[in-house]
Amino acid sequence: MLAADSTGPSIGHACGVFGVYGPGQPVAHLTYLGLFALQHRGQESAGIAVSDGETITVMKDMGLVTKVFDERRLASLQGHLAIGHNRYSTTGSSSWQNAQPIYRSVGDAGFALGHNGNLTNTAELAAGLGMLPGLTADETEFDSTTDSALVAELIAREWPDEPRSDGRELELALAKVLPRLEGGFSFVLMDDSRLIGVRDPHGFWPLVLGRVEGGGWILASESAALDIVGAHYIRDVNPGEMVVIDATGLRCELQYAEPSPRLCLFEFVYFSRPDTRLYGQSVHAARQRMGEELAQQSPIDADMVMPVPESGIPAAQGFARAAGIPYGDGLVKNRYVGRTFIQPSQQQRGAGVRMKLNPLPENIQGKRLVVVDDSIVRGTTTRQVVAMLREAGAAEVHFRVSSPPYRYPCFYGMDTGRRGELLAADLSVGEIRDYLDVDSLAYLDLDRLIRATHASPTSFCTACLSADYPVPVDLQVADAKRVLEAPEVDLTARTP
Ligand code: SF4
Repeated sequence: MLAADSTGPSIGHACGVFGVYGPGQPVAHLTYLGLFALQHRGQESAGIAVSDGETITVMKDMGLVTKVFDERRLASLQGHLAIGHNRYSTTGSSSWQNAQPIYRSVGDAGFALGHNGNLTNTAELAAGLGMLPGLTADETEFDSTTDSALVAELIAREWPDEPRSDGRELELALAKVLPRLEGGFSFVLMDDSRLIGVRDPHGFWPLVLGRVEGGGWILASESAALDIVGAHYIRDVNPGEMVVIDATGLRCELQYAEPSPRLCLFEFVYFSRPDTRLYGQSVHAARQRMGEELAQQSPIDADMVMPVPESGIPAAQGFARAAGIPYGDGLVKNRYVGRTFIQPSQQQRGAGVRMKLNPLPENIQGKRLVVVDDSIVRGTTTRQVVAMLREAGAAEVHFRVSSPPYRYPCFYGMDTGRRGELLAADLSVGEIRDYLDVDSLAYLDLDRLIRATHASPTSFCTACLSADYPVPVDLQVADAKRVLEAPEVDLTARTP
């Protein structure tokens, strides 16, 4: 995707969550490695909560995992149980206060929570509690602007009054709260001696369960994080399921709601690591098949197929193979510049393109190029990339996108901004072609994209492409809210 991975403003990620139950294991170090493996899902803040059976210690800060934690800090996090979180803000501001895991004390007990996703009924839930998001700590205990803090508050209010001998307060409170939540959520939670994983009934965001060699359990947003910490995949946490892990192992597998799987299709297109598996399928192989489908759907006579690195690489490989056109590099990515969506503001993102990508004129000059990327969201970056290629001597630039036009905002945990910021919201493909100044433009059809995943066609959320929202949202109300929240963006410059 142009702006997120490689070149500029785009949709942001959801968050990354990780959890370990591992007596005798270095749980803080494992969580650090897991968060590092999931760094692409959120770069604004990172945090780890650890329990030694009596005390939960939380350490979190703004920035990348490697900035927040060092050997000394990890050594101070001793215990047998941990959760971790990488945050990309989708609700609430980007601030230390909103970093996760969130810790909440309830009487003598306490719990920590990490959340990937967005609730769609936050306002109703907050109103039901007699509070509104955004109140300060002085005004209410609800001291964060995120929906995750609201969930923590709901759990605290459902906490059993009397301590239980079996220590199951957290899961009992959750069993009451979860059916009231709407939207997208994959949670990792812990009290002093239990690790809990939860997925919303649609399973918008992935959450997998694994075993550690030598004993112990892992929860992670992506299967690749299991590989990296030396764990093996057991299964996905089911949509609508809560799993509880304690000293007896995987003790509870509660299907608290009827599952209706609608995994975010963009996990296949862009969000997940290529070495992750979704619905049992290799993400990398699926992305190559998307490129093959694109070549069959929208062929073009050209001299070279090139990706927008790195997001377009697998689809460009597939396109080149299927089209029988040589694959080559036309842009070099600076590996040492941070991903541009680390900074959420539009102004900060704008400078990122030239910092990150540089053309290879000797590979481009006089050539008819097929340039492949996985998506175009706001389009400003794509336009700059095309201009760079033309300046470097490209004879023709034919842009191919391995997903359909991104026309509608996401309300389940992906930061897309409001609808007016999406290039394809009101423009035809022809108008986008003119705006980007390309010789031809084609997007992969939705049915071909889904076919390339090799998963069931009915098992995806495609709302940002189709407006088919699995959890109903009032587009006008939601967009009006985003107008109030989002910085104003001048889109007049995009008019051809
Ligand atoms: S609306 Fe789009 S980004 Fe959001 S969950 Fe659905 S497919 Fe994913």
